[in-house]
Amino acid sequence: MNVFLINAHAEPKSFNGAMFRTARETMAAAGHAVQVSDLYAMKFDPVSDRRNFTTVKDAGYFKQQIEEMYASEVGGFAPDIEAELQKVESCDLMIWQFPLWWFGLPAILKGWVDRVFAMGRTYGGDRFYGNGVFKGKRAMLSVTTGGPLQAYQPGGFNGDIDAVLRPIHRGMLRFTGWDVLAPHIVYGPVRLSDEERQASLNAWADRLRAIGGEMPIDVGEY
Ligand SMILES: Cc1cc2nc3c(=O)[nH]c(=O)nc-3n(C[C@H](O)[C@H](O)[C@H](O)COP(=O)(O)OP(=O)(O)OC[C@H]3O[C@@H](n4cnc5c(N)ncnc54)[C@H](O)[C@@H]3O)c2cc1C
Repeated sequence: MNVFLINAHAEPKSFNGAMFRTARETMAAAGHAVQVSDLYAMKFDPVSDRRNFTTVKDAGYFKQQIEEMYASEVGGFAPDIEAELQKVESCDLMIWQFPLWWFGLPAILKGWVDRVFAMGRTYGGDRFYGNGVFKGKRAMLSVTTGGPLQAYQPGGFNGDIDAVLRPIHRGMLRFTGWDVLAPHIVYGPVRLSDEERQASLNAWADRLRAIGGEMPIDVGEY
């Protein structure tokens, strides 16, 4: 497989950093080709504007999706966006490693989606959901939380984790055609002992070694 790993944590010594390294080393050791985007390390710019493009369709009014469709036609994406698009397009499995922030993606990863998932190139026309551009490719979220497992049950303190993740699963991944694998969630790593965290990293590596046989989940609707 061609595997594409994205890391959205600023601290290499964090638990997210450890999960990212575990995934990178495990997939490479299993013989897969691994590409990475370590967003903070590469100082990825998450702000979406005309800098996304080398081309201009309408100089008088910036409408992002119009510029995206034009750039898709003429090859007009800025080099940082084009590089990310090529990683997305060439992978069989994409994994996003991130801490849950305000029930969603950290801004650097949300900005990556805003800039890279461009109309024309990653969706549009009649290419959505089951007929999406990335049909047949698989994607997975690898998430850590502050709150414990009990807080993320239906009716719990924060509520159903499936509902929390649905805007990402459905609105970003399934929308653009990905088959979504069950998220890998480590609840409250800061509350675990070193031994429990090491066991969690071992379980993550075990899951990754067997991931070729996993079936996609139903991401649900609203
Ligand atoms: C802006 C913001 C918004 C947030 N919103 C939410 C929210 O909506 N919901 C929610 O639940 N939480 C929220 N949080 C909390 C956040 O999700 C957690 O703090 C985060 O997921 C914890 O992951 P980490 O990688 O940062 O952990 P860290 O604190 O970096 O790591 C936990 C522990 O693991 C240790 N560790 C690192 N590597 C290893 C290793 N190899 N082996 C063993 N131990 C290791 C570290 O030393 C540390 O002691 C928010 C936090 C912020 C800053």
